[in-house]
Amino acid sequence: MPRPILATIHTAALQHNLARCRAAAPDAKAWAVIKANAYGHGIERVFEALRSADGFALLDLEEAQRVRHLGWRGPILLLEGVFEARDLELCSRLDLWHAVHCDEQIDMLAAHKTNVPHRVFLKMNSGMNRLGFTPQRYRSAWTRLDALPQVDEISLITHFSDADGARGISHQIRVFNEVTRDLPGERSLSNSAALLRHTAPAAGETPDTPDTLMSDWIRPGIVLYGSAPDHPEHTSADWDLQPGMTLTSKLIATQAIETGASVGYGSHFVADKPTVLGVVACGYADGYPRVCPTGTPILVAGQHTRTLGRVSMDMLAVDLTPLVESGQSVGFGTEVTLWGRSSNGAVLDIDEVAHAAGTLGYELMCALAPRVPVVVDGGC
Ligand SMILES: *Cc1c(COP(=O)(O)O)cnc(C)c1O
Repeated sequence: MPRPILATIHTAALQHNLARCRAAAPDAKAWAVIKANAYGHGIERVFEALRSADGFALLDLEEAQRVRHLGWRGPILLLEGVFEARDLELCSRLDLWHAVHCDEQIDMLAAHKTNVPHRVFLKMNSGMNRLGFTPQRYRSAWTRLDALPQVDEISLITHFSDADGARGISHQIRVFNEVTRDLPGERSLSNSAALLRHTAPAAGETPDTPDTLMSDWIRPGIVLYGSAPDHPEHTSADWDLQPGMTLTSKLIATQAIETGASVGYGSHFVADKPTVLGVVACGYADGYPRVCPTGTPILVAGQHTRTLGRVSMDMLAVDLTPLVESGQSVGFGTEVTLWGRSSNGAVLDIDEVAHAAGTLGYELMCALAPRVPVVVDGGC
């Protein structure tokens, strides 16, 4: 028997979450962002559920090839563009649209031999200071691209640094709109947080930029997978999102310990009363964060309880005392939900576990270890 740990990808949840994005921006086309192997879910596993998107956005040329291999003939966007000149050959061959964020990428295009002109997304650095042409240099980059026979349509793209937080996006939208006002071409601005927080306000809130956030192409990533882009201010339930991934395992042992006894490496947890603990077949080598402290939320038999002590490589401990005291029989083989949906329907938000680890749902999804078997519910 393999270890009982298992990740399940929820097709219907992915579809639901994509529909949520569409409802938030009904007139826009939607890139489903599937970089980092679909945020750890597996491109091949999410493809069917997300194929009603208008296109797939990612970074890695190998991942783009996989999407074409799945039979996808629609748009694919390389969010960082090409990394070297020969990448452009693959773009020509596979009809990949690509971001252009620096002069070197324009140089490579100018030297590229192709019969098929490329669709490009010219990136503006409107304040994030990661990728893109500064507002001052943006129009000259546009003019240079426009003159190239290798270039077909030019779309305009920028990325927000604070869509999930207090600073918001208005300062970047202002810059973007000023510089691009009279340029033709489609616009692509919104990531998940901009889409949910600044286009479709939760009940009772007002968007801070009602008519200036015009995105012909929205670019949702994290929301597709069911995580709130602005946790803990909002939870996935607040945004009506469903978990795209469940990580489950089982209890493989129990221990009844006395007051004063400790649990795990470093004796980090010391019982202040007689305690029943369960040992779960899941550790940091499965992608569960080692930094999760005692008290990290976890579900046993679909009920909320907490972890105890340090997470080790292959195991972690959970508090069974409240379940035992309420008369439940839990023990060897009992289902444990590390995040996602338990078989009784209870949900443990991946964001809550991430929060306990001082990180984001993004990182936990992407860090799911290769040794964890993955199944798609309702499918393979
Ligand atoms: C990753 C990424 C996105 C998606 O971001 P989320 O926060 O996951 O919605 C959108 N645009 C660009 C350029 C990205 O790199």
